[in-house]
Amino acid sequence: MRVFMAIVLLALCGWWGLPWLKSHLPPQWNPFTPLAVTDPPGWMMRYKLQRLSHDPAACLAVMQRASQQGFVQFRRVPPQQGDCPIEQPLRVSGFGEVSVSSSFLASCPMAVSSTVFVVNSHQALLQAGINNRLSRIAHVGSYACRNIYHRQQGRLSEHATAEAWDISGFQLANGQWLMVGKNWRQPTEAAAGLHALWREGCATFGNVLGPDYNAAHAGHFHLGMRGAGYCR
Ligand SMILES: [Zn+2]
Repeated sequence: MRVFMAIVLLALCGWWGLPWLKSHLPPQWNPFTPLAVTDPPGWMMRYKLQRLSHDPAACLAVMQRASQQGFVQFRRVPPQQGDCPIEQPLRVSGFGEVSVSSSFLASCPMAVSSTVFVVNSHQALLQAGINNRLSRIAHVGSYACRNIYHRQQGRLSEHATAEAWDISGFQLANGQWLMVGKNWRQPTEAAAGLHALWREGCATFGNVLGPDYNAAHAGHFHLGMRGAGYCR
């Protein structure tokens, strides 16, 4: 009986406390506030991203808000049909001041993760002792209708649904390039910058694979949506 009363009491506290929590929690820690691309990476961000993947309208709203604030440039494109369909593809052509080597196709949740990644990159670089913003990202693609590692058999790659983005290098505002293939180990400063960006990707994407993972990733970071923090 006492246990039952305690459960009822707790439930009532939760019921009364919810409205208070909804209005008093800071937005980045409030599960009821829509995701903003300026939110810090972490488990709450991951939770909100997870929710967006089941809610195309809410996802698009996040992207539209981010675009109005100047954090990303994108346009909607018709759904992809065929073997590798995408319901609501977006074509991303830049992230505010940060240009990309070419525009790329992204599922809406992947577009959100990419924007969060670029917005938070300055903080990541600062922590690695680099006081320079990104100015350009060189990439080698996002959407490709294929199996993992181009195998004949096996499961579809994340790229088959534009749920992954392969980045080969980052240019800083001072013109310097951090190339995954060349600078993952040296010189020290460039390597520290790349490792910091790799770690940061890990907080925003479901999985991040780099040169330490295998030879197939010696020249690029694979930033994918599957998983919940698998980073190698
Ligand atoms: Zn990839």
